[in-house]
Amino acid sequence: MKIEANLKVIEDRIQSACAVCGREREDVKLIAVSKTKPVEMLKEAYRCGCRDFGENKVQELVDKYDKLPGDVRWHMIGHLQRNKVKYLVGKVYLIHSVDSLRLAEEISKEAVKKGVCVSVLVEVNAADEAGKFGTTVENAVSLVEEISRLPNILIRGLMTVAPYVENPEENRLYFAMLRQIAVDIIHKNIDNVCMKELSMGMTGDYETAITEGATYIRIGTGIFGERDYTSV
Ligand SMILES: *Cc1c(COP(=O)(O)O)cnc(C)c1O
Repeated sequence: MKIEANLKVIEDRIQSACAVCGREREDVKLIAVSKTKPVEMLKEAYRCGCRDFGENKVQELVDKYDKLPGDVRWHMIGHLQRNKVKYLVGKVYLIHSVDSLRLAEEISKEAVKKGVCVSVLVEVNAADEAGKFGTTVENAVSLVEEISRLPNILIRGLMTVAPYVENPEENRLYFAMLRQIAVDIIHKNIDNVCMKELSMGMTGDYETAITEGATYIRIGTGIFGERDYTSV
């Protein structure tokens, strides 16, 4: 399998991007986005050192959860329906895709019930793309304020899915925008809110995202190869 070689290429590029902007390598965490990929491939990535895995479907995450070692950190990066929240709480390390108060309320309720605290990111539709999830840039700060008042849920930062582009430089302004929203929120000093994490950058644009401050990059294709949806 090419996974080991792919990871080496990505690691080199992460290090170069960090060097370009004077950031520490350990401040950028790589999430292996394993959606649609078989467990054997995740195990291979695990053997190569990956501990953070991202999935976009609850059922798939839960199925894979039991098949990988217990020190894996599972990231929910896809749109989340309220009726599925109960399957995730207690298993997921970080939910990247919280984009409404109603969803946050459901997570909070389930977290209280299970006696745990759930870490989340608020997803922002920075490019204001039609048909994409995420709160608007205008509503991001007030949504963070509202969620911050709920028990057993901790906001750790923001997430965005930038447009699909050929030239990653075209997404730089959206990454900068996400960072600026985080700065605005930090200045508000809201209890229960920390803005340490910026989840942004995928296979096509992660180096640009790193130079704009990404702390989590989410890479699927670059590690596991193209996804095949025809058999799903
Ligand atoms: C699939 C997916 C990724 C990874 O995309 P690649 O282009 O394959 O790296 C990252 N983030 C989210 C939210 C995704 O759904």
